[in-house]
Amino acid sequence: MSHYQKPPELYDGLRLHQNENTGGCSPRVLDALARLRADQIGFYPPYAAATDAVASYLRVPADRVTLVNGLDEGIMALAVAYLRAAIGGPELEAIVPEPAFEIFRFDTAVAGGRLVQVMPRPDFTFPLDEVLSAISPRTRVVFVTNPNNPTGVGVPLDCIRAIARRLPAGAVVFVDEAYAEFAGESFVPDIDAFPNVIVGRTFSKAFGLAGLRIGSMVGAPATMDPIRRAIPVYSVNIAAVAAIQAALADLDHVNDYLRQVAESKTMLYAACDRLGLRFWPSRANFVLVCAGERTDALVKGAFEKGVYLRDRSTEPGCQGCLRIATGIVEHTARAIAVIEEVLCAAR
Ligand code: PMP
Repeated sequence: MSHYQKPPELYDGLRLHQNENTGGCSPRVLDALARLRADQIGFYPPYAAATDAVASYLRVPADRVTLVNGLDEGIMALAVAYLRAAIGGPELEAIVPEPAFEIFRFDTAVAGGRLVQVMPRPDFTFPLDEVLSAISPRTRVVFVTNPNNPTGVGVPLDCIRAIARRLPAGAVVFVDEAYAEFAGESFVPDIDAFPNVIVGRTFSKAFGLAGLRIGSMVGAPATMDPIRRAIPVYSVNIAAVAAIQAALADLDHVNDYLRQVAESKTMLYAACDRLGLRFWPSRANFVLVCAGERTDALVKGAFEKGVYLRDRSTEPGCQGCLRIATGIVEHTARAIAVIEEVLCAAR
């Protein structure tokens, strides 16, 4: 597949296929949106206050933070900034340890870079030696997601440090921390010591703001500079600017979701044990489950019952696997009931 296949637009059932917060955003976000004035919508948006709010949440100076229209935009800007070859110059390389968020592959292609895939180990632990061996003088980006999507497996921060130390000048490690809130671990405190590392964050997952499209890129100003130039000037809209400040002022809402995610994962692990399904313990808000031959029937059967799960069986190392978001406890309970029903009916 040479381009991203957007999942179909399914909004009638239980969306457990895109790792969103199915409980939605904080009510304070809705209040902030309702308070927007006509003149604010009439003007191009100011970014200083929202940038300061994100910087203080991440405990970094504001000049390390750039807001983006979803982390997807940040990743595309990074690919364009770091992987586009000079006219007549050699192709530049992106290393992607698989299985990975597919967008890395597709954005590398859009920017004209060469994809260097590192194949997974059977237990999905981070293949550090294999990644280090894949580094060449033409490497410009190493994409690392911590915790990883679709496996939920964490990457030791020392692996990221080891890659950063080994990269040629002008290359960066991109640490995608879309799910960092769930793992409670981040590379952000290290960015001054490792100026060739860029961290990506999103407010689509733990904060429940996916529909508003807001994330941030975090890194040393000089390394961020080419990325900033590749981001359209006013790509983050005023609704997202207002929403992020309100969302960051209500961390209780996020903490309640984090508690539910932990409980949901325990529930799903127990269900997998009962049903004889292998799974990988996850540090994110989803779990990769192996249903083997039954995967297709399970995803389709759950779909018929209004529960959307993500078939990941065509991703490298993921044959027979599906990914299930584990957020709001009530939603997880419903998903488990449907999974049991479908698998038992198929027996
Ligand atoms: N990175 C990873 C690893 C993701 O899973 C996602 C969301 N699917 C994103 C980035 C994109 O996040 P956003 O909604 O902020 O564009």
